[in-house]
Amino acid sequence: DRIMEIRKHRCNPMVMKVTYYNKPVCLTQGYMQWLWDTDGRRYLDLFAGIATVSVGHCHPKVTEAAEKQLRCLWHTSNIYMTTPLHEYTEKLTAHLPDQLKVVYLTNSGSEANDLAMLMFDTLGSYHGGSPQTLGLTSYAAYKYPIANGFGCHTTMCPDVFRGLWGGSHCRDSPVQTIRQCSCDPGCCQANNMYIEQLKEVLASSVPSRIAGFFGEPIQGVGGAVQYPKNYLKEAYKLVRERGGVCIADEVQTGFGRTGSHFWGFEGHGVIPDMVTMAKGIANGFPMGAVITTQEIANSFAKGIHFNTFSGSPLACTIASSVLDTIREDGTQQTSATVGTYLLTELAKLREKYEIIGDVRGKGLQIGVEMVKDKESRAPLPAEAISQIFEDVKDMGVLIGKGGAFGQVFRIQPPMCISRDDADFFLAVFSCALQRYME
Ligand code: PMP
Repeated sequence: DRIMEIRKHRCNPMVMKVTYYNKPVCLTQGYMQWLWDTDGRRYLDLFAGIATVSVGHCHPKVTEAAEKQLRCLWHTSNIYMTTPLHEYTEKLTAHLPDQLKVVYLTNSGSEANDLAMLMFDTLGSYHGGSPQTLGLTSYAAYKYPIANGFGCHTTMCPDVFRGLWGGSHCRDSPVQTIRQCSCDPGCCQANNMYIEQLKEVLASSVPSRIAGFFGEPIQGVGGAVQYPKNYLKEAYKLVRERGGVCIADEVQTGFGRTGSHFWGFEGHGVIPDMVTMAKGIANGFPMGAVITTQEIANSFAKGIHFNTFSGSPLACTIASSVLDTIREDGTQQTSATVGTYLLTELAKLREKYEIIGDVRGKGLQIGVEMVKDKESRAPLPAEAISQIFEDVKDMGVLIGKGGAFGQVFRIQPPMCISRDDADFFLAVFSCALQRYME
C-alpha cells in the first residue's frame, strides 16, 4: 500500500533542476540507511543527504523525540531561554575540551562559519555558500563575482596523494587554475613543502592582521583529502605564534564521523579555539553551531548573536536526541568498524583496477579517487565518472562525488550501515568498474 501511495506522488521535473544524476531520482521515503523512490525502488544511501543524516533516516528514537516536542513548543526565537536549549547546550559542551564552553547556535554550516570569519583556509576546502563563507570556500564553481567575503588567503592544498596543488595563495588571483605540484607527493613531504608554503602565505600577510586559520580536519567536498602527518599541528602553532586563532570546521567530520574520535580535530592532536559544526548535528534538521572559548566570546562586539530560528526548542530536542542515539546505538563505533572494513576492501579493489588511484579517509568519511592510470594520476574524465556513478545508482546504491576535478567518489553514509551493506556496495561498485573497463 505504501508503495502504491508513493507511486501516486511522482515528482514534477519542472519544479527544480536536479543535476546530480543524468537520470534524476525522486525520493519519497527513508528509513535508517535506506531510501525509496517514486517507483518504490529501494536504494542503499551511502551519502546521507551530503554527509548529514548521521544516525539514520527517520531514526525511530529521534522521530519520537521530535514528535513529542512538536506537540509541546516549536519556536520562541533566541530572545528566550527554553528547556531544550538549556539542556542541549550543556550536553553538547560536555563532548568538547573544557575550554570550549560558549555555544552560539545557527541554522546551517555556512551561518556557523559566518560567525567565525576573517581567516585563512585551505585550497580544496568548502566552508559554505553564503556571501561571507564564499570568501573561505576555494571552489571557483561556487563563487559569485559579488560574493567573495573578506580578504582571505587560500593556502595550497596539502594533498598527500597529489602533492601540493593550487593556483595561488592570494584570493585576487583565480584560484580555479589548478596547478599540480611538479614534484611527487612524497617529495613534498620529505622537503616539508606543505608547511613551507603555509609559511609563505603567512609571510605575505601583514603579521598583525592575521586573524586565524580555518580548516576542515579532513576535507569533505574536497574528496576526503587527509593532510600530511602533523600538518595541522604545525599550522596551528605557526598561526598562534602570529597571534591568530585556529578554527576547526567540523561540519562534516564531527559527531563520530571519523570513527576513532568524536571530532576530527582530535585525530590531529590539536585543540582549536573555535569549532564550527552543522550537518550531522541534527540528523538532517537544519542546525549549526559555533563553540568557542570564554575569552573569544568576551571579545565579540557586544557579545550578542541574534538569529530568529537558531536554537529552536525543536532543533535542540532533535539534536539532543541525536547525541543520545550516537551513544546508545554505538554510532561512532560502527563508523570505526564498518569504515575500516570498507577502507580495507576498497584498497583491494585499488590493486585490481588501474583507474582507482587512491582510497583514503577515516571512519565513514571515505574518498575513492579515480584516475586515468596510476602512473599519471590524471583525473578520470567527467564522462567516465558519470557512467560509473549512474551505474552504481541504477544498481541501487547512492554515493557522492567531490574533489577538485570531480574525480573522487565519496562515501559518507548514515552511520548505521552494516558490514552486509558494505559488501553489497563493494559488489555493486566492482560490477560498475568491470562494466566500465570492458
Ligand atoms: N563546511 C563544510 C565542511 C561543509 O561541507 C559545508 C557544506 N557542504 C559547509 C560548511 C556549509 O554548510 P551548509 O550547507 O549547512 O551551509
